[in-house]
Amino acid sequence: MFTRDFQLKQLKSTSEFDIVVIGGGASGLGIAVDAASRGFKVALFESHDFAKGTSSRSTKLVHGGVRYLAQGNIKLVTEALRERGLLEKNAGHLFKRQQFLIPSYQWWHKYYYGIGLTIYDLLSKRLSIGRSKVVSAKSASSKISNLNHQGLHGGVIYFDGQFDDARLALNLAQTAAESEAVILNHCKVVNMLLNEAGFINGVEVEDRETGEHLKVASRVVINATGVFSNKILKLAGRKKKGLKIVPSQGIHLVLDKHFLQGSTALMVPKTSDGRVLFAIPWHNKIVVGTTDTPIKKPSYEPKPLEEEIDFILDNASEYLTKKPTREDVLCVFSGLRPLVAPEGDKSNTKEISRGHKIIQSESGLLTIVGGKWTTYREMSEDVVNEAINLYSLPKVEAKTKTLEIHGNLSEDAKANVNSELWYYGSDAADLETFIATDKAYKEAIHPDYNFSKGQVIWAARHEMARTVEDVLARRMRLLFLDAKAAIQAADNVATILQSELGRTDSWKQDQIKSFKDLASVYLI
Ligand SMILES: Cc1cc2nc3c(=O)[nH]c(=O)nc-3n(C[C@H](O)[C@H](O)[C@H](O)COP(=O)(O)OP(=O)(O)OC[C@H]3O[C@@H](n4cnc5c(N)ncnc54)[C@H](O)[C@@H]3O)c2cc1C
Repeated sequence: MFTRDFQLKQLKSTSEFDIVVIGGGASGLGIAVDAASRGFKVALFESHDFAKGTSSRSTKLVHGGVRYLAQGNIKLVTEALRERGLLEKNAGHLFKRQQFLIPSYQWWHKYYYGIGLTIYDLLSKRLSIGRSKVVSAKSASSKISNLNHQGLHGGVIYFDGQFDDARLALNLAQTAAESEAVILNHCKVVNMLLNEAGFINGVEVEDRETGEHLKVASRVVINATGVFSNKILKLAGRKKKGLKIVPSQGIHLVLDKHFLQGSTALMVPKTSDGRVLFAIPWHNKIVVGTTDTPIKKPSYEPKPLEEEIDFILDNASEYLTKKPTREDVLCVFSGLRPLVAPEGDKSNTKEISRGHKIIQSESGLLTIVGGKWTTYREMSEDVVNEAINLYSLPKVEAKTKTLEIHGNLSEDAKANVNSELWYYGSDAADLETFIATDKAYKEAIHPDYNFSKGQVIWAARHEMARTVEDVLARRMRLLFLDAKAAIQAADNVATILQSELGRTDSWKQDQIKSFKDLASVYLI
């Protein structure tokens, strides 16, 4: 059962786990799914909520990375394209084949990118999701009718995958729990347990809802805390040098859908300072991004810089006939890439490798860091294989290449799902039946959006949502779509959660206040 009470009970009744995972983002949840489906006893602890960190703040692409191809990183691109194909099969409900246009304002550009994208198609082999082609200026304009036509020579059409990151994280958590992993959000790892020889043999966790501290014994402990990895490495008494995590901030702006007319996404391969810029339809809005700004200290709510906002607005304005302004921005969200640079490396973050790294510290902690959402499955397989080898766990093969993720639907089955509830996948039918049982459940939490009160109850009962933020930021994506509307919906959500979770009036008031404070960072 995917409820916090049940998961806590399971935790307390298990004397020793094979693998404890710290962190409930793409990496940690992927590891929990991989290890639990191989039959290992697994517990995962997330200090906040699933995908609270970087994993809810991505560009929402399941991609090989056209940019990495240009850098000649064929291995990374090939692996990611294979993973893209696997995710489409295993989490079809959240995966969308998205058409992209690279507009070309110099005649030779379309041939240059056309050749590159043909290679991209070839690298995806059997798992291709659509052929790229060079198109004329007329055809390019017909794809995005408000594209800047001046000097347009045509472009290249290609396909990549698109998804909902926080919903996939939730579905991974549910999948792991279905394989009997213990999965807990709002539970922070605060210390390591050591045996007499100084080797880690478990963790101490704090249940952040009750303040209770628990000691959890485990043969292996894996640190999957992304940009926060160094804090856990310190708890594990790391002495050795060799891992330098360089957080690199990327921001996105969310705009109304009329800023990009049609269903094709825009890809700008080289902005004024050599980055890639995307404008992509997502949940009936347009997500535009991103940036690559090295920052010193990681935080849970990274703040967008004024120059990052200006950079995106200025660059998007070059390509779109209706120029977005600050007043048009519905939400600005920021995420931190956990890039790993070799110690002493001074490269620009654009150049640091996007691949993942696994290290073992002196006290036995395994840390995995780097990589991409797209490659979470392969990264998880690697680190569990490493754990098997290093800690003599039974040699069981990974099962995740064909393991269906909670909610999975085939292309045909997707057509029968209520279009407003598409992101619930195979849960949509049950949710719809539940909402139909009471007129009040159909009521919207905000007059401009179709998110219903029934969905909030569902999130509390079936999706381990514990706070207003869990619901509005990650179960429904309203905070990321329209921060002002999310602030306006906070009272409604808090009232429902208070009754569902049996909380006091002061809890409700605290929730509303802290959500409004947090959401103000998402407003310009
Ligand atoms: C701007 C941007 C755009 C991106 N776009 C894409 C994209 O389009 N496609 C793609 O494939 N990839 C993309 N990525 C990369 C991808 O999002 C990341 O690689 C991935 O989300 C990292 O996941 P993670 O699990 O390693 O880290 P996180 O998601 O940050 O997870 C770490 C978790 O650890 C938890 N934690 C920390 N300390 C503790 C503790 N003491 N106890 C318990 N839990 C703890 C945190 O709360 C957090 O939830 C993008 C990244 C950024 C920044």
